[in-house]
Amino acid sequence: MNINFNSIATLLVIAIFISFSAPLTVGVTYSLKKEDQRIKTELANFQKTIFDSLEDSLKEALLNLEPTQIENAAQLVIHDQRIVSIKVYSSLYGMTLANLKKNRELKQNQLLIQKREIKINDEQLGYIEIAIDNTYHDTTSFHARRNIIFLFAGMFICGIALIYPIIYFIIIKPTKRLMLQAKNLSAGDMNSSFKWQGNDELSELGNILEKMRRELKLYFLQIKKLAVTDELTQIPNRRAFLNDAQEALSLSERYDRPLTIALMDIDHFKEVNDTYGHDMGDKILQDVANLITDMTRSTDIFARYGGEEFIICMPETDMNEAKIVTEKIREGIQNHNFAHEQTLTSSIGLSTKSTNRNLVALIQEADQAMYKAKKSGRNCVKIYSRD
Ligand code: GH3
Ligand code: MG
Ligand code: MG
Repeated sequence: MNINFNSIATLLVIAIFISFSAPLTVGVTYSLKKEDQRIKTELANFQKTIFDSLEDSLKEALLNLEPTQIENAAQLVIHDQRIVSIKVYSSLYGMTLANLKKNRELKQNQLLIQKREIKINDEQLGYIEIAIDNTYHDTTSFHARRNIIFLFAGMFICGIALIYPIIYFIIIKPTKRLMLQAKNLSAGDMNSSFKWQGNDELSELGNILEKMRRELKLYFLQIKKLAVTDELTQIPNRRAFLNDAQEALSLSERYDRPLTIALMDIDHFKEVNDTYGHDMGDKILQDVANLITDMTRSTDIFARYGGEEFIICMPETDMNEAKIVTEKIREGIQNHNFAHEQTLTSSIGLSTKSTNRNLVALIQEADQAMYKAKKSGRNCVKIYSRD
């Protein structure tokens, strides 16, 4: 598994884990220490109580040397599970009067051995030695320890189980979504939309990105349109024509279908500009563009090639059909009542795919045919031929 330590999700999981486990570990350790102390104090108190009770009952017995009484007193208390051995020593007689031991295998460090001297008026009678099972508290505190650990582990798991989904749905998931949204945008994908419904900061950021995407898309479409549209006539420009016509030519090649190119130039247009002004010339160019748009098929690619020159790429159209269509266009222009109220004529040159398969060469051939039309007195359609 590949863990990314820069990811917010990973850092959050680590942060949650540390912030839960650190106080819990401290809490558990502290509670266990307290528990240990409590039990140790309890054992020490217990030992003291035994000393106290034995001291009282043994004083007389030691003084009068009554070993049976001493033994009985010791027997009485050794029943307690905590006591491992009791030894009573008489200093007066220099002998051990009672030495009771339980059959328990314990190491020295597992025993809490204490001695108490017994005196009467500063006279030493002897001592009592009691060994307590120091591991006793381990067994008694085992349940308490286990309960504490279970309690804290349960709290830890419940805490994680509660906090993780909250953090996942509020931070991790929206952050990942936001990343995807930003990545899409930076990769130029302006079509994938993201809806954000919350009022939190991440949703706000998501909505800002979404707004940016919509605006960018709009600008992009406008720019794209501007790049392929002729500003004056609003029909496709030369760049768009070369693109689209190349595609149409490739298709006609693949399916072996006819395709014809018509290049058209307005006759004596300089005179129109000179006589009626440039604005009038512009208006006439717009009208010519509209007129031809109406007379061509939607599958034809019609564009302003430059100045007062227009070009049409006609897929599925052979030379005969193209001649008929372009004659109609030429007549249409000639008969149209333009704003300057003068007859406007055009010269058209045609070339067809069968003559030349390269688009640039095909346009050059149409240009040569158009030049021929100009030379033949203008206002006519000419077909390209090699001679
Ligand atoms: P020909 O019959 O030989 O084509 O003569 P012409 O006068 O049409 O040809 P020429 O190339 O001498 O002049 C073309 C003119 O078209 C000159 C230019 O002012 C005009 N023209 C080109 N583009 C525009 C335009 O966008 N607006 C206007 N108003 N005139 C333009
Ligand atoms: Mg020209
Ligand atoms: Mg001209």
